[in-house]
Amino acid sequence: MNEQTIEINLTTNKKEKPNPEQLSFGKVFSDHMFTLNYSEGKGWHDPKIIPYQPISLDPAAMVFHYGQTVFEGLKAYLSEEGKALLFRPTKNVERLNQSNQRLCIPHIDEELVLAGLKKLVEIDKEWIPTAPGTSLYIRPFIIPTEAYLGVAPSQHYQFIIILSPVGSYYKEGINPVKIHVENQYVRAVSGGTGKAKTGGNYAASLKAQEVASTKGFSQVLWLDGVEKKYIEEVGSMNIFFKVNGEVITPALNESILEGVTRNSVIQLLKYWEVPVVEKKIAIEELFEWYSNGLVEEVFGTGTAAVISPVGELSWHGENIVINNGETGPIAKKLYDTLTGIQKGAEPDYFEWTVTVD
Ligand SMILES: *Cc1c(COP(=O)(O)O)cnc(C)c1O
Repeated sequence: MNEQTIEINLTTNKKEKPNPEQLSFGKVFSDHMFTLNYSEGKGWHDPKIIPYQPISLDPAAMVFHYGQTVFEGLKAYLSEEGKALLFRPTKNVERLNQSNQRLCIPHIDEELVLAGLKKLVEIDKEWIPTAPGTSLYIRPFIIPTEAYLGVAPSQHYQFIIILSPVGSYYKEGINPVKIHVENQYVRAVSGGTGKAKTGGNYAASLKAQEVASTKGFSQVLWLDGVEKKYIEEVGSMNIFFKVNGEVITPALNESILEGVTRNSVIQLLKYWEVPVVEKKIAIEELFEWYSNGLVEEVFGTGTAAVISPVGELSWHGENIVINNGETGPIAKKLYDTLTGIQKGAEPDYFEWTVTVD
């Protein structure tokens, strides 16, 4: 399948680059996009790189109705030597197919997706910003495009990759954030779609996020959807706790998204011989550890923010302050090491980076 050649049609009208100092997250897009279509019988076909442009769809296109979508998120960085680097892109492409499987979207050729992704980043390489904390965010996604109002898997899809130069995910930078432990709304349930990167999970999360924001919290911590007892994730990040010298993270289950950053953090901690354990963690247990003075650090992990230290957690009106509201040494070391590897400034112990050009 990956013998398919990617047709390339370059823009004749390059856009102006944004001011690197004013970059936020996901508001500006590069000059080109990658597209690939699927139709029943023909499979995935017509890989193309074309000028970034709007897409035209029938109002009955299934994407507007029942949420059969999947997406990914990863980043490209520019090394000191001017090489474009991707961080573990094969993990994202594998996860895309795992999400596809859950959403009844046809399996996509991973080699072709990777080839398209690399070619696109190579063509738009000048869009990779270099200021500290900035990178080129890559958003691959699949939408169902068949015009049909029946509830069934679509027979036509479009796969698209767009690129967006981004600054730090949080306005506050790598400073600790305040987290609201969510007791009413849930993000995902066992048997649902929590394990897949699909739009509906994020639609389901907006209300809790909105309520938490009005109360001055920047993210919510999700508890399991059945008992609201066990810790799952924080916002759209995985979560880690350093308790009495040991790093603990919730064990994966059907309602937790397996982050590439989570996996990388676990590998780094093992390499540093920091004890790391994946297990079920009850929120009550965490507050107990805290009252015994055992909670040393809390941080979230995800592509967008990389490492996001948690300074404060609020559950049932009870507030706990972690590490005096400051970034802890493990979070700092993980952030520096991961972003160092991503930019090619640190030794790539695990062969995680992929050079594009
Ligand atoms: C994308 C995502 C993560 C983090 O995954 P990374 O691969 O580390 O970026 C965690 N939780 C949710 C719900 C996500 O959507």
